[in-house]
Amino acid sequence: MKYVTYFLTALVVVFALLGFLCAPKSATETDFLLDTYISVTAYGKNAKKAAEQAVLCVSELDKKLSAFRKDSDVYRINTAKANTEVSVSTECFELILRAKELSEKTDGAFDVAIKPIMDVWGFGKKNKVPDDSALLNALSLVDYNSIILNEEAQTVTLTKDGMAIDLGAIAKGYCADMAAKVLKNNGIENAYLDFGGNVVTMGKRPLGLIDRIKYGARERDFVVGIQNPQATRGEVITTHTAEGEYVAIVTSGGYERYFEEEGKRYHHIVSPFTGKQPENGILSVTVIGASSEIADALSTAFFVSGTRLAKRTDNGLYQKAIFVMDTGEIQTIYPQGEK
Ligand code: AMP
Ligand code: MG
Repeated sequence: MKYVTYFLTALVVVFALLGFLCAPKSATETDFLLDTYISVTAYGKNAKKAAEQAVLCVSELDKKLSAFRKDSDVYRINTAKANTEVSVSTECFELILRAKELSEKTDGAFDVAIKPIMDVWGFGKKNKVPDDSALLNALSLVDYNSIILNEEAQTVTLTKDGMAIDLGAIAKGYCADMAAKVLKNNGIENAYLDFGGNVVTMGKRPLGLIDRIKYGARERDFVVGIQNPQATRGEVITTHTAEGEYVAIVTSGGYERYFEEEGKRYHHIVSPFTGKQPENGILSVTVIGASSEIADALSTAFFVSGTRLAKRTDNGLYQKAIFVMDTGEIQTIYPQGEK
């Protein structure tokens, strides 16, 4: 009996040791940046240093792109008098340039000049349904065409007093792409980044000992859960298996940020055409593609303009969009020219 106990103990020790030796080397770094929790998990040699540098890169970008930090490029643009050329960092200039292009490509459903509308609703601050005149006044200031970009001087000019830029629907995506680049430059091939609904997967998920035995493989594709918009956080309605070296999976949902007034829910994604929450039965849109930045802008635009915009959007911009409707229906849409 004594020998059986010794044997079993030895077996447990051997398995624990094997498990430890075969555990994939990984590191996770988290922070609160871009007005959300971000997390970067890197696998392989150098994982900790790489993840730390990726988060540092995001914190540097946040300083430039935040609409709230008084020292940011965006704050300086938004508080300058109309027709003043404001000199900004290359990162900020180029992001606004691309955001303007995406505003055009989505027929204005994503409008980088949306901030006056966000201000009258005051999400997270005053949380109040605005009256029609305040809404109309704010709407007259929302127009990405009135942003003048001077590429040579790298300046941004807003041409009407009261105009303002809001990168909230694209910055998380852009920063996730940038953080992934930092990981890659540090030799990381496998990683999982989650910036408040913006997920990027790089490569595959290396497996621990038990899973290696279970699946007969050293690694597996990452499987990304898509939040059920009508359930508590963490409850998944469907999943997407991320196949490939680099996959961006970005969700825009009305459940993410909202307030309630007289029993009605008002969320943070608004139509640049009406200044109000779109009433199209869409609870969330997940866009899958090769660029987190583009998927981010598109998820917001598709939330506003629905499946029709998704269907006529170029197939170079994204691969697949998953719409969750208030009927419980899940619709999968492919870009123009696909399937
Ligand atoms: P997302 O969660 O990516 O859909 O982005 C939502 C955030 O983007 C909001 O908190 C606003 O700051 C901003 N936003 C809301 N509606 C729009 C819109 N139609 N176009 C551009 N930005 C928007
Ligand atoms: Mg977005």
